[in-house]
Amino acid sequence: MADKLIKVAYLYEDLMNTYGDSGDVKVLKFLLAKKGYDTQVDNISLDDEFDANDYDFVFFGGGQDFEQTVVAKDLPRHKDTIEKYINAGNPMLCICGGYQLMGSYYKTNSGVTIKGLDILPLHTVFKADKRMIGDTRYMTEWGEVKAFENHSGQTYFDDTDKLHPFGEMIEGYGNNPQDKQEGLRYKNMIGSYSHGPLLKNVNVANAIVEMILNRHEERTNNEVESV
Ligand code: GLN
Repeated sequence: MADKLIKVAYLYEDLMNTYGDSGDVKVLKFLLAKKGYDTQVDNISLDDEFDANDYDFVFFGGGQDFEQTVVAKDLPRHKDTIEKYINAGNPMLCICGGYQLMGSYYKTNSGVTIKGLDILPLHTVFKADKRMIGDTRYMTEWGEVKAFENHSGQTYFDDTDKLHPFGEMIEGYGNNPQDKQEGLRYKNMIGSYSHGPLLKNVNVANAIVEMILNRHEERTNNEVESV
């Protein structure tokens, strides 16, 4: 029987929250509480141990280039556990800087290349023309989303058979100025440039809550079986 405690891993909460993305976790906590669940949020930071198998949801927020550089040095220790977690279809939400770090690299405006985890075939580059900042609006499989973006990195998919966008742009830039696409949906992993926070869009938040509850049931049933 599934218990009533949802476990959330918040990757580098102390470093990757420049843009208020912790609001996403607060919305999920609120919606889960309405369904009778408590939520435990663990900040997984520099040098911490982390096993994604222990969690029902993994969250990775946005950050500035400097913090991304610091985080990118610690992150490879967790590549294996995050990759298996995503490929098994478990729910994860990565916003902006966190999303960029799931790809192969992010080349910043100062010419530094920050290595990503290379779990998903995408890369991010700075191109001298613009910082993408402002309101966004796009259509997802769960309906329209309204949010805010603030990034200089432009993200491109390297394997368009494998990767699909999270949304089709109506207003704003999203992944880059050319493709008119926002973020990424790969299995139950969502990558997005949306701050605001994203999950004030309750249509998306409810869909993620469903994913979390399915994962929770599966995880806690497996735990019981293996006792
Ligand atoms: N530092 C990255 C960029 O500017 C990500 C910014 C963010 O997370 N909002 O592209």
